[in-house]
Amino acid sequence: MQIVIVDSSRVVLQIIASLIEPRGHAVHAFTDSAEALGFLRATPTVRVLITSLEVRPLCGLELCWSARLIAEERGPLHVITMSSVRNVRSLAEALDSGADDFIEKPPSAEELNARLRAAERLTTMQEELIRLAETDPLTGALNRRAFFNRARIAAERNSHPGGVSAILADIDHFKRINDQHGHDTGDRAITAVADLIAGEGIGGRLGGEEFALILPRCCLSEATTRAERLRSNVQDLRIRAGDATVTLSCSFGVSTWADGDSVEALIKRADIALYAAKSGGRNRVVASTPDAVPIVAQ
Ligand code: GH3
Ligand code: MG
Ligand code: MG
Repeated sequence: MQIVIVDSSRVVLQIIASLIEPRGHAVHAFTDSAEALGFLRATPTVRVLITSLEVRPLCGLELCWSARLIAEERGPLHVITMSSVRNVRSLAEALDSGADDFIEKPPSAEELNARLRAAERLTTMQEELIRLAETDPLTGALNRRAFFNRARIAAERNSHPGGVSAILADIDHFKRINDQHGHDTGDRAITAVADLIAGEGIGGRLGGEEFALILPRCCLSEATTRAERLRSNVQDLRIRAGDATVTLSCSFGVSTWADGDSVEALIKRADIALYAAKSGGRNRVVASTPDAVPIVAQ
């Protein structure tokens, strides 16, 4: 596992690293708690934070609390606090601040590694539960709820006009594929399109044969170009159905962030553009005009 350790003393950091590194863990040691938090934010693969309560500039409890908040965005994080003073009050405060566990400083190698094994079991289980809750079992793409959550995070970071764009895609006359070649072939067609979408950015399956993409740092014209490339790639797909080969196409709607926008309004404009692509003959890309629908602030 990747483990972050925070303590004001380099000697303590070295001692703890020497206890856990031989078990195959990668240790990232910090004397500065704000730097540790920045590293946790930038490194979602870190699974355990071990912090002393007596650290600076954020105290151990503040670090626990902040680490718990960012864990919602970055995935499971097991937080272990350490203190040389073991009393009921500091233990309760640490747990109430978002810590999962508490150990005395300096810990014994046996105790620390047993607690890390427990942390590994818990975070692996949490990762699996998150994966099951967020992904669509057929394609492995994000499901609707998870897609909107990720899209909101991406939009918050790029919320200026043209800073983030959305693409909606819907397979054309998909019912015919199911009717003529069977549901299994339909499923394989959905999976093939989902794979193409996933290669482009934050993609989700919003419903049966409808997909969405959020493209951070991408303006309307670039998003339209990317939708056009996807359209062409979908057209080139060949799905085997017994002796037959099935071809398919998708229609696309594209929209971009505007002043006072929300993810819901952004997707709504892409949906209106998608509808225009369907009624315009299908197998085409339509970009939303900014005044397609009034922008409703969140
Ligand atoms: P349009 O070009 O207007 O989009 O027509 P369409 O036939 O693609 O659209 P419609 O909404 O009429 O049909 C979608 C079909 O997708 C209906 C539904 O049975 C099928 N479908 C939904 N989910 C799945 C799935 O997971 N697997 C398969 N094989 N079919 C699905
Ligand atoms: Mg369709
Ligand atoms: Mg549809």
